[in-house]
Amino acid sequence: MKFISTRGGEKVTGARAIVTGLSENGGLYVPEKFPQVSVEELGEMLEMSYPERAAKILLKYLDEYDGAELLAACEKAYSKFEGDDPAPLVRLDDGVYMLELWHGPTCAFKDMALTVLPYLLRKGCDICGIKEEILILVATSGDTGKAALEGFKNADGVKIMVFYPSDGVSKMQKLQMCTQEGSNVNVVAVKGNFDDCQTAVKEIFQSAECAVKLKEKGVVLSSANSINFGRLAPQIAYYFSSYLDLVSSEQIAMGEEIDFTVPTGNFGNILAAYYAKQMGLPIRRLHCASNSNKILTDFLETGVYDLHREFYKTTSPSMDILVSSNLERLIFEISGRDYKLTAKRMADMKNDGKYAISAGELEKIRETFDGGYADEDESVEAMYDVFVDVGYTMDTHTGCAMKVAVDWFEKHKKDETKMVIVSTANPYKFPQDVLYAVTGNDVKDSFKGIKRLHAATAMAVPKCLKELRDKPVRFSKTAEAKKLFSEVMEFIG
Ligand SMILES: *Cc1c(COP(=O)(O)O)cnc(C)c1O
Repeated sequence: MKFISTRGGEKVTGARAIVTGLSENGGLYVPEKFPQVSVEELGEMLEMSYPERAAKILLKYLDEYDGAELLAACEKAYSKFEGDDPAPLVRLDDGVYMLELWHGPTCAFKDMALTVLPYLLRKGCDICGIKEEILILVATSGDTGKAALEGFKNADGVKIMVFYPSDGVSKMQKLQMCTQEGSNVNVVAVKGNFDDCQTAVKEIFQSAECAVKLKEKGVVLSSANSINFGRLAPQIAYYFSSYLDLVSSEQIAMGEEIDFTVPTGNFGNILAAYYAKQMGLPIRRLHCASNSNKILTDFLETGVYDLHREFYKTTSPSMDILVSSNLERLIFEISGRDYKLTAKRMADMKNDGKYAISAGELEKIRETFDGGYADEDESVEAMYDVFVDVGYTMDTHTGCAMKVAVDWFEKHKKDETKMVIVSTANPYKFPQDVLYAVTGNDVKDSFKGIKRLHAATAMAVPKCLKELRDKPVRFSKTAEAKKLFSEVMEFIG
């Protein structure tokens, strides 16, 4: 299987796509064609464990990797999750299920891919004959940084450096990163907001001067953010796995179509669902849920992607994003894989902050997708209602998805299609906001929030968050956005 860029250019192997992350012309790598999973194969997968299902899906895209090794890597990755199912499906109501993707080491769905990515990258380097040390640079607004640190800590031949905006992450997220263990990790706060941070990191990637200096040190750069196909591929697996779980538990018949609602930021998670559908998984509709930063809701309504709007800081910070990078992959497919048109649209967005798709293309997208959003009050309401009605607690991001799903049910009362709502973070990751939603109480301190939330819900507190309170802070440096490269050079020594 070869990969092509959404903006044209050379075909590459899956290994190369993962190692480089982004194509040279700035486009995203997509598979040359979607591998298919037949109904027979789905039947065979019913008996498989989660790691076996994941390895099977990965191997369809990454056929130059070794199957047995891939399976061993998936088994190792998902053994780090709490409980015996890394992606359990919880029945909420008749025909409504929560797919919990937050049982991994950092309590957010990013773990589903970032526990596997280190293997995919290391092996990818071997396949491509890359001998240099790999340095992974990550700009994060919260969850990706911690999941990447945890995934790559103490990995052979790899160093990882995470940059976060000094005033753009929650207290819990900051503590998770600054107490990170491992001999090959570094974390630096960057003065300014997430955009300043991301721009500074991108400049290092694009600078020829930096590349030369790194080469002298025997180091090559790589990226762990969600435009890397190595992040996307493991996410496809849980859509298959949850479908199979519904068949196994006789909630649906094999072949019956289902819907998913996905809380969306960078469009990575929901795009994986679309890929699963393209591979033959019986998915009817995908509901794209946003918070007050509802650029995707508007796009799915009008076909115009328009960055000229206010940016809101919300209680679902991992969805506070205006440039949803992975949407480029959907636009590329819908245009009939027209790379010139895709490149033009991305250039329009960069230059004018705006692009539009045709009426025909919008219609095609809407055959599968619809969009909705929850403002701050609406997500609180949705979280509260479910807590009171059925005793289920969800995090703030999942709260937005819940509201969008409920809107759908109200508009389509006779719709019998089963709905899976994707739950992306453990509620204890945002303890104060979740506590407020379910009890109306405000507390000033995160650990107090955890204690009160536990008292209110009796839900188990994950060890990795409880421990944070007593862990020594290892990283406390703040740097100017312009000086990040000297931090990098100091780190690699
Ligand atoms: C990253 C994240 C999202 C958004 O996922 P995308 O793949 O960026 O669309 C939603 N919820 C949580 C908790 C996240 O960490």
